[in-house]
Amino acid sequence: MLIKRDAAIITGYLEDASGFTEGSSDCLVIPENETEVVEYLTQASQRHESITLSAGGTGVTAGRIPLRGTLFSLERLADIGPIQVTAAGAEITVGPAVRLETLKNLAHGAGLIYGPDPTERTGTLGGNVATNASGGQCFKYGPTRQHVLGLTVALSTGETLTLRRGECLAEGDLLRLPLSSGRILEFLRPQLPALGVSKNAAGYFSAPNMDAVDLFIGMEGTLGVITSITLKLLPAPAGVFSLAVFFNDADIAVECAAHIRDRKGGCAPRPSPAPASLEFMDEHALNLLRPQFPSIPATARACLMLEQEFETNEEDRFLTAWSEFFTAWGLNERQIWFAQDDAGREHLRHFRHALPETVNTLVRTRGFRKVGTDMAVPDAAFPEMMHFYYSRLQASGLDYLIFGHIGECHLHVNVLPRDEKEYNQARALYEEFAVEAVAKGGTVSAEHGIGKIKHHFLQIMVGEAGLREMARVKQILDPALILNRGNIFPETLLQP
Ligand SMILES: Cc1cc2nc3c(=O)[nH]c(=O)nc-3n(C[C@H](O)[C@H](O)[C@H](O)COP(=O)(O)OP(=O)(O)OC[C@H]3O[C@@H](n4cnc5c(N)ncnc54)[C@H](O)[C@@H]3O)c2cc1C
Repeated sequence: MLIKRDAAIITGYLEDASGFTEGSSDCLVIPENETEVVEYLTQASQRHESITLSAGGTGVTAGRIPLRGTLFSLERLADIGPIQVTAAGAEITVGPAVRLETLKNLAHGAGLIYGPDPTERTGTLGGNVATNASGGQCFKYGPTRQHVLGLTVALSTGETLTLRRGECLAEGDLLRLPLSSGRILEFLRPQLPALGVSKNAAGYFSAPNMDAVDLFIGMEGTLGVITSITLKLLPAPAGVFSLAVFFNDADIAVECAAHIRDRKGGCAPRPSPAPASLEFMDEHALNLLRPQFPSIPATARACLMLEQEFETNEEDRFLTAWSEFFTAWGLNERQIWFAQDDAGREHLRHFRHALPETVNTLVRTRGFRKVGTDMAVPDAAFPEMMHFYYSRLQASGLDYLIFGHIGECHLHVNVLPRDEKEYNQARALYEEFAVEAVAKGGTVSAEHGIGKIKHHFLQIMVGEAGLREMARVKQILDPALILNRGNIFPETLLQP
């Protein structure tokens, strides 16, 4: 186990993509394996030493940044087990520090795929599970949660918990967790308001008869340290092509996305192809990217991006179907980028990824933290939510852009403040958006999590009673209250 106290080294771990600058730590601990994780947690619990778990550092909510105490970096837990194929399908067990990119490449080499595709591939699978990350292909494959078959979690008590999906279900509201010590931890699931959306990364998962493994997906390191993850791998399609479609009218782009989402529009000939991802960029997002991508059509006011998987002999038919579909929406060939080969697809992936990266760079240059939303609402509420976003943003005079996962009615509104006054104005707008999304049955965070910077918005969603319910469950699993303090709910709710 490495222990470092050199401030210059520690500083590198006090940041992620949130721009949060209040991190502080006097000690960095790097365990080599699960045994060392358990050993350190046992001692830290006795000393009531605050521990913050650190992985790839690509999070956007300061989850890995400690307010004080010890930084616990899981970077060495990067074992990769063999791919196992059984009658039930293919799976792999990996350490939490394995990067998403590594798993994607590994699966590809075996003729398989790992479904989730959070845009930032340098993030780790431990970070992805802890935040229930999703991303573009969530439209077809769902969030990380749906691909987790099992977890091992080290608790701060020095016990471990190994869970396999389907083997430890709550009886109604009662969870019974079998720990390595032989102890059974029995408690009621957190009582939280029901949601109208299936994609959620705001607070603990809770549902009647829930699978215990789901409690640990999206818990942002507050309940334990994930030391091992078993993930589902799926058969790879024969091929994939990507499209970027540029609309001269944003309203039409939104309407077209709704048709694709609902499969109402359809594409001839049937059966219609359905995309793996359906993404949106508004005019302001396109304007930000124009210097890097000068071939964006000058008249474009919005863009839809799609990825279409196909099996053998389907490619030409699907290409024709999409081409006819968009022609029927009034688009011509100059408004559509088709990418069929690896280089073309990589170019479109870069186009999509360049947006959040360019926003983050701009925000750093301006010196003010970005105010970026992560809300999803039920399909039926989406047109009204879009209208609400645009009417409030246009009236505000703020610099903003909107992009994201329109397939799941989950867009990121990014406000880019130029000074303190604008920053405060943007925060007030964010609150209005959160209230509106919750009133429509939505979530305040569909994929990024709450971390240290979105407590207030989670409170709008679950109320103080909901926050207290989550704190109650944390206290049962982490009785010394040492793990990831300040994530999801305020430390003031953690009373020993
Ligand atoms: C350009 C860009 C694009 C992005 N796009 C997406 C996107 O499309 N979809 C999406 O969902 N996210 C996206 N993100 C956010 C980010 O990539 C995800 O939140 C990712 O899951 C974070 O993983 P990480 O390894 O970097 O974790 P970190 O940032 O290091 O940590 C994230 C949280 O997980 C906890 N944690 C980490 N490892 C463990 C463990 N082993 N046990 C328990 N807790 C742990 C940490 O304590 C922290 O609370 C993007 C980020 C960037 C910079």
